[in-house]
Amino acid sequence: MTLQQLPKVGPKTLSYLQKLGIRTIEDLITYYPFRYEHLKITPLNQVQDGDSVTLNGVIESNVQITYFKRRMNRLHFRVQSQHRFLSVTIFNRHFLKPHLTIGKEITIIGKWDAKHEQVIASDLLLTPLEKEETRGIYHTTDGLRVKQLQTLIDEALSYSISVVDNIPSSIASQYGFMDKQEAIRELHHPTHTQRLKQALLRAKYEELFVYMLKMNVLKEHKHQEEGISREIDDYLIESFIKKLPFHLTKDQNHAVNVIQKDLERTYPMNRLLQGDVGSGKTVVAVISMYMNYLSGYQSALMAPTEILATQHYENIKQFMEPYSIKVALLTGHLKKREKEAIYQGLEDGTIDMVIGTHALISEAVSIPKLGLVITDEQHRFGVDQRSKLKNKGQMPDILYMSATPIPRTYALTIYGDMDVSSIHTMPSGRLPVKTYMKKKSEMKDVLTMVYEELKKGHQAYVVAPLIEDSEESTLENVEVLEKNFNKAFGKVFRIASLHGKMKEEEKDQIMNDFKENKIQILISTTVIEVGVDVKNATMMVIFDAYRFGLSQLHQLRGRVGRNQEQSYCILISDLEKERLRVLTQTTDGFKVSEEDFKLRGSGDLFGSRQSGDLSFKVANLKQDFSLLLKAKEDSSDYLHSDDFKNQKDPHLNQLVHEIYHLD
Ligand code: ADP
Ligand code: MG
Repeated sequence: MTLQQLPKVGPKTLSYLQKLGIRTIEDLITYYPFRYEHLKITPLNQVQDGDSVTLNGVIESNVQITYFKRRMNRLHFRVQSQHRFLSVTIFNRHFLKPHLTIGKEITIIGKWDAKHEQVIASDLLLTPLEKEETRGIYHTTDGLRVKQLQTLIDEALSYSISVVDNIPSSIASQYGFMDKQEAIRELHHPTHTQRLKQALLRAKYEELFVYMLKMNVLKEHKHQEEGISREIDDYLIESFIKKLPFHLTKDQNHAVNVIQKDLERTYPMNRLLQGDVGSGKTVVAVISMYMNYLSGYQSALMAPTEILATQHYENIKQFMEPYSIKVALLTGHLKKREKEAIYQGLEDGTIDMVIGTHALISEAVSIPKLGLVITDEQHRFGVDQRSKLKNKGQMPDILYMSATPIPRTYALTIYGDMDVSSIHTMPSGRLPVKTYMKKKSEMKDVLTMVYEELKKGHQAYVVAPLIEDSEESTLENVEVLEKNFNKAFGKVFRIASLHGKMKEEEKDQIMNDFKENKIQILISTTVIEVGVDVKNATMMVIFDAYRFGLSQLHQLRGRVGRNQEQSYCILISDLEKERLRVLTQTTDGFKVSEEDFKLRGSGDLFGSRQSGDLSFKVANLKQDFSLLLKAKEDSSDYLHSDDFKNQKDPHLNQLVHEIYHLD
């Protein structure tokens, strides 16, 4: 049966339904209410003015309609209810008039107006309520009334449509789930609180089960791939680590160990390494690249900006020099001759490691012995960009790095097909960045605090949302701030600005000057957001902080606090102070991102693939996390069960088959 076969469903209704994501009859009957309304006849002798009432009444008069401007209208009629005569008024329901005939019994839902003995109705039910009833309220879209949607769903429910049950029968009986048809009915027309709860639980479980089943299949599919298997000499790795200028933190050590196991295993590594800015992901990447080198393969590390790529390059080169490992930097701004030399070196294997920007995925680049691919700030790259780099080699191992940590709940779903390592602890000796909120009117305080830091020989970042003055906006901008900071500090300190419209060389020059402390105050837009490492900077001032997301602010704050001294972050904002407060309370990126998720949803933080994956219809990741974990385990067990092998639930075998062919 199709949607068109339902009464009164034309192209217009179809397009509305489509907007709601309803394309089939099955979609329609599994389009569940987001809340319920409990209806129960109100005894008229107990009502007071202003009370909400639900009354059954028989229509006693003709309906009068008054039309106003802007397509407003009012219906007025009289009814007999509980042996009394009452007036009923309802707005904008002119289309109901033909149904409201004298003698007809209806249910009136609304507010009691004692003075006029009338109900100001919000809704009329043409089929009167017989006893208590709970009805669903549905999200809808402009043009399609909730009532219409309800009627359509009820119509569809009156046919016995068979729906696929994605919960394997064995699991359904293990949990004692009710039958799916029954659950669907209960969700639209609840009969009992307890039963509704069970129906909802079933629906959530089913959704999570299917999702995790897919994730498990993808993961296992990857596990069957033939990648590079290698043996890595523990001794060499240990001595490499011993020579580092610091001790690895517990989480770094753990990450290094699991990565080594990943690399030694036959199937390709597919791991996400997440941790706050400054938590020391880079050195984990460095050790991984060294492992890869020892087994005779080339490594490539891709970063989203030139500044970041260059920084990684210089860093990594330093670590590798003692071992005479050849490291190259490939960005779009190299001269043709330089580029070609790198292409050549990669091709003939004289370059062991290449660090770069998008330039790495250019057609001209060929890396025949590519064994390890690392993407920094992975969410900044599209899926196809990442796979282009990966395809330069044959089943290389892959490590993604992200400084936008995701709470475990989300990591399991967004990255359900990956392994995830998290670095929670900062390298020891680091003090958490002290964060304050200031109003624009407190600028004097802010300047004093900046001066205190500069006096100690430290440096400061200043961030503004705009580059230049704009008539439409009162937001702070880099140009004006540069002038103002020059006025305040120009005699003693050097101030420079940086923004995305500048030429690459200009930016690099300024960044280098800042690194070398030739510049003390760097004023910029968010171009410095990613990964920049200037240890002597201890002050971060962010103007109009409300313009930025919490995770973004947290990232910016991560530019400071990179040495043993106390660092500070000042958020200047006259708006949204409640939202920003969490930053003054914690420096834990996992907590900040949790808060960000709560406020903004996941869509803004990640690309469309990921946010699409997160939009569950009935399940709610926060509330249903333990259910998700169960579904994850159950679906994995199921994939290895005899029931699955013997195709006891054939549509699930079909589903899995389809996933295999998608990937
Ligand atoms: P991330 O990439 O996670 O933002 P980095 O790898 O750039 O962080 O590390 C930040 C700084 O901390 C670097 O200067 C790095 O050398 C240093 N660092 C990394 N690990 C440690 C450690 N275990 N102890 C002390 N310093 C460390
Ligand atoms: Mg980094």
